[in-house]
Amino acid sequence: MHSTRYIFITGGVTSSLGKGIISASLAKLLQLRGYNVTIQKLDPYLNVDPGTLNPYEHGECYVTNDGAETDLDLGHYERFLNRPTSQENNVTTGRIYQNVINKERRGDYLGKTVQVIPHVTDEIKRNIKLLGTKHKYDIVITEIGGTVGDIESLPYIEAVRQLRWEMPGKTAVVHLTLVPYLSATGELKTKPTQHSVKMLLENGVQPDVLVLRTEKPLNNEIRRKVALFCNVEIDAVIESRDVSTIYEVPLLMYEEKLDEIVMKKLSLPYSREPDLSQWREFVNRLKNPSKVINIALVGKYVELADAYKSIIESLIHAGAVHNIKANVKLIHSEQLTAENIGQKLDGVKGIIVAPGFGHRGIEGKILAAKYARENNIPFFGICLGMQVAVIEFARNVLGLKDAHSTEMNRNTPYPVIDLMEHQKEITDKGGTMRLGAYNCELVKDTKVYKIYNSSSISERHRHRYEFNNQYIGQFEKAGMIVAGVNPEMNLVEIIELKNHKWYIGVQFHPEYKSTVENPHPLFVDFLKAALDN
Ligand code: GLN
Repeated sequence: MHSTRYIFITGGVTSSLGKGIISASLAKLLQLRGYNVTIQKLDPYLNVDPGTLNPYEHGECYVTNDGAETDLDLGHYERFLNRPTSQENNVTTGRIYQNVINKERRGDYLGKTVQVIPHVTDEIKRNIKLLGTKHKYDIVITEIGGTVGDIESLPYIEAVRQLRWEMPGKTAVVHLTLVPYLSATGELKTKPTQHSVKMLLENGVQPDVLVLRTEKPLNNEIRRKVALFCNVEIDAVIESRDVSTIYEVPLLMYEEKLDEIVMKKLSLPYSREPDLSQWREFVNRLKNPSKVINIALVGKYVELADAYKSIIESLIHAGAVHNIKANVKLIHSEQLTAENIGQKLDGVKGIIVAPGFGHRGIEGKILAAKYARENNIPFFGICLGMQVAVIEFARNVLGLKDAHSTEMNRNTPYPVIDLMEHQKEITDKGGTMRLGAYNCELVKDTKVYKIYNSSSISERHRHRYEFNNQYIGQFEKAGMIVAGVNPEMNLVEIIELKNHKWYIGVQFHPEYKSTVENPHPLFVDFLKAALDN
């Protein structure tokens, strides 16, 4: 294909309508039709990246291979498309302004007054086109965060308007809105959609396609009304019904012909029908599990399940492999005590201790690691979860009283988890952790060696603290062995218990690499162990 096409996904009426899933679903369909597609998310907040955000704000921070801390929607893009994303796939207003101000300080603007229009909008346009020009994608889908009408979104919408003007026929705008159902009158209401399209039009953008999120099916009359009042073709009014799993959305969008209408708008040659058989098979397995098992996910952000998005999705992928459903019980680590742990974890077949930062809830996580170790319950410690397993083992097996991570207790007599020397000089919090993909050599005759069926792997990281190598000898003698090491820096990446069914802690985040097509082997094997338990 000669020139990149750009699809913009905007949202109206309310947030949380699932723009990310619609973007990923459309991308999947186009990918299955043979196009080289990527998805980008533009976030209208002033943080340079979501790395410094509390998970309660926007959910999990997703990390790419190149170490970018990004919006969790990028996780959906990778899980659907089975292709890695990078820093270029997530841009925030903070980063746009930072770039513009850096250019101003360098003198790049040659004495001009630097303004939102054209300088900020030009920087937005540059970031949108970068993916298309640098990486030669056939199609770039850009999801605009926020809701049309927000002050923060205005420069983005203006950039979209300009790009449409600059590249006639090469762009399409898909606008996602809500059609609420009023139970009192038993009606679906289109007025909020009309208003939100008006708002787009006021900003000079006519959407090509409307995706209407709805609880009830839309009849023809409603479709016609929306088409007429919003100035789109009737075929371009797409119904997006609530479904039980996000993985059903591509199938639904295919039935609604979202991909076809978009291809028509972009004059993309009609190549082949997407082969959805594998995807259907996966959804089938998801929806009809032969068994349900309880898995505890012990963390401190449990009020918001989005905080652990990738872990939960990885369990869904792995469950489909065994044709089971992992029923994830989110357990608040702050509420775990030695007295209630047996009751709280009753009936649980496997325990995951989640990643996290800071002191709050740490003792409950340590208790969970102890409980799993002593009761021979499959245990999977991820990042902080691995560190917790190490602390627990030090305290209760090695007898190192008050052993801790220096993150939680700077003056611990036994800093079994500690900062690397070069980390000690860093004071800025943004973007300064060990981030992104690192190599790991697996030790022969360990569980993980068998699970990965390989001696060297690469996994993504997001942490500051590390296993303190001074203690390796003591740990190994007592039965907690080092099963994976980063060869460049000689850092412990994986620990496992010798005399245990399945007790593995990983310093990295395997959950970032699990996709529908490639469920992560650690999650797959963990569920198998839980199933056998
Ligand atoms: N707080 C720990 C560290 O910085 C673990 C981080 C995490 O779990 N992602 O090392």
